[in-house]
Amino acid sequence: MALDERRLAMLREMGVPFWRPLQLPDAGAPVDAAASGRAPASDASQPGIAPAAAVRAPVAPVAPAEAPAAAARLARPAPLTERRPEPQAPQDGSRMARSATAPPPPPTPTPTPAPAAGEGAANQNGSIASAVIATLDWPALRATVASCRACGLCESRHQTVFGVGHPRSHWMIVGEAPGEQEDLHGEPFVGPAGHLLDNMLRALGLTRAEDAPEDQPPLEPARQAYIANTLKCRPPRNRNPEPEEMRRCEPFLQRQIALVQPRLILAMGRFAVQALLRTDEAIGRLRGRVHRYEGVPLIVTYHPAYLLRNLPDKAKAWEDLCLAAQTMETLPPR
Ligand code: SF4
Repeated sequence: MALDERRLAMLREMGVPFWRPLQLPDAGAPVDAAASGRAPASDASQPGIAPAAAVRAPVAPVAPAEAPAAAARLARPAPLTERRPEPQAPQDGSRMARSATAPPPPPTPTPTPAPAAGEGAANQNGSIASAVIATLDWPALRATVASCRACGLCESRHQTVFGVGHPRSHWMIVGEAPGEQEDLHGEPFVGPAGHLLDNMLRALGLTRAEDAPEDQPPLEPARQAYIANTLKCRPPRNRNPEPEEMRRCEPFLQRQIALVQPRLILAMGRFAVQALLRTDEAIGRLRGRVHRYEGVPLIVTYHPAYLLRNLPDKAKAWEDLCLAAQTMETLPPR
């Protein structure tokens, strides 16, 4: 399958190395490096992209929206049962990188005493029992999150970041916690990391858009992704979430997943993985195989914010996307 410039540009955007067979010139004719299909100098020279990574990302099978399965077929990853040893892989995406440069976080504000979700009924502080949350429909759930004061993060947020996408998307993307831009816009994955995520979704033929433009045919849930974070409020200075904060916020994500009923979940970043799989294992040890969340296939990969700081791991993220696409192909219809 020929790689057109749009697909090549998408892979360049993701930073995934690629190659395609060199077209030998006529005798005597000069070889045009660009026509050879090899990555341009700007790609090949990206810092940190090791030759080995280029080998692992064999082809640039960026699937167009109309044929996403081709991506998996062309860049077929290892069998699902194969576990790829990566003992050196980092544990975290954005959070580790952020914590390395951010000043020491201030003390966590002591939240107003409130029962954690699941420990009591709704009370005057805005906390609400998980059993109640589990019964909410979309409007009630969104309103409950918007007014939630169950942990100290409510004190410093500009607004809650609920989620975005078609409410019955076949794909669900779960991130970590809102950053500065998300806190300002009220939408998960905006800014550079969001731009990279959108490119990753496009590579799978997916979109976060809930509706198609008026002049285009309706979108199909099979081609749509619902995006939500583990935490709905931004931790101050992008510090790591506290376990108690994650515990109190967890029922909201659980309810979102129950309402969407995704066919496949893509968990991005350590805290998303921790929340969904209840494990402290490093992402590098978890990726490359299919996990389950409440029976739903779950693929682990790096957070886009982490990928922006660790270019060589974009090739691994591409492998994870291919595994996700391949897994989706094997699932029975919903
Ligand atoms: S992070 Fe979650 S639990 Fe804490 S205040 Fe925000 S919505 Fe409520």
